[in-house]
Amino acid sequence: MTAPTSLHDLPPRERELLHAVAELATGFEAEAAGYDDRAEIAVGNLTAVHDAGLDAAVLPEHLGGTGLRYQAFGEAVRLLAAADPSTATIVTMHTGAAVGLAELTRERQGSFFADELLAGKRFANALSEPTSGNRFLNPQQEARPADGGWLLAGTKRFVSGSEIADYLLVNALVDGVPTFFAVIPDETVTIIPIWDTLGLRATRSQLLSFDHTLLREEFRGRSPQPGDFAAVPAGLPAISLGIADAALGALVDHARNRAILGKPLSHQQWIQHEVADAQSRLEAVHAFFQRTLAEADAGRPEFFSNLSRAKYLANKVAVDVAQLGVRVGGASGYLKQSPIQRHLRNAQAGQLMAYSTEVLATEIGKEVLGVEPEPADEAEVA
Ligand SMILES: Cc1cc2nc3c(=O)[nH]c(=O)nc-3n(C[C@H](O)[C@H](O)[C@H](O)COP(=O)(O)OP(=O)(O)OC[C@H]3O[C@@H](n4cnc5c(N)ncnc54)[C@H](O)[C@@H]3O)c2cc1C
Repeated sequence: MTAPTSLHDLPPRERELLHAVAELATGFEAEAAGYDDRAEIAVGNLTAVHDAGLDAAVLPEHLGGTGLRYQAFGEAVRLLAAADPSTATIVTMHTGAAVGLAELTRERQGSFFADELLAGKRFANALSEPTSGNRFLNPQQEARPADGGWLLAGTKRFVSGSEIADYLLVNALVDGVPTFFAVIPDETVTIIPIWDTLGLRATRSQLLSFDHTLLREEFRGRSPQPGDFAAVPAGLPAISLGIADAALGALVDHARNRAILGKPLSHQQWIQHEVADAQSRLEAVHAFFQRTLAEADAGRPEFFSNLSRAKYLANKVAVDVAQLGVRVGGASGYLKQSPIQRHLRNAQAGQLMAYSTEVLATEIGKEVLGVEPEPADEAEVA
């Protein structure tokens, strides 16, 4: 598949970074099934991605980085996801938490979190709550005033990469207002080991318990603002697109190499027609995603609602391609040793990560139909 033309226009240092990420991804792909099977975080992959310069590149210039374009970030995540989507998911969450904390705490902490990111420290997003579900920007847990800040007693769930995180980006209600904090996990933060899932197993997105954890005044952040680098919204569609690329690759490989009655499966007309439909739709979503990231790089405000559309479409096309893979793969694709079943399990997870395809469909549908957003919808737009 050819890269969209816009990527050829990236500055040389961004193209070099993408080249380095692509090379790393080849090695990650070979190990992805093992990490998935063991539900083990591929720590070496994360270190290699940091050493290749992605963390330094993605920090905006005013925070001491080089201000990677959205288009390059999206492509880097897609390349990683096609090889190992759990690594890509942790990279996305880590980037969102790290760049977010560096931005939100700059007034109080100066360059502290940016420097920690550059030094290779790990960050995780501890935002989702049992009672907030998909509405992870609307925390329901109230932090109580205490000496030096506020105390949080409760849980945060599905925190990707939390077991290796040096810092957590946490939100809670302070005087009824959603407020962000940096938390350095201490003995009050414990892991409740729930993570044994169908897909994206190597993200180890655990449930965290906060037993009267101090949310320190000096680690309190400002609210997110337009113009902050939106790593998670930009990364989530790329994760599903990478999974779709991998699922299509496995399908094609199977169809070309499995012969029935003397002819490869790829010679069957129904498969040709289904593949034509799936691959064309995947290319169209890729193109829309790239256009949206170009809008983001150009500072055009419509990019944010188009990222919702890109996630919605990418989540769905990944599931469609992966399901087609299961049909083409037959019983051999259903075996645990086949990558086809792993791509299907991973594709399903993209739809669940906030905002889910159902939540996005409501948001997009209301916008198209001119239905006024409700107060809860508005609070979600960060
Ligand atoms: C692999 C993976 C990694 C994750 N990583 C992180 C992370 O690093 N940090 C983090 O904070 N969170 C993370 N999450 C959490 C995730 O982003 C969601 O916030 C969380 O999964 C939502 O809870 P839930 O899945 O129980 O869904 P629920 O919100 O309980 O949803 C259940 C069903 O209801 C639907 N639904 C919910 N709300 C609405 C609505 N308003 N309108 C219509 N339908 C609705 C959903 O679409 C879904 O079908 C991760 C999740 C996964 C699966």
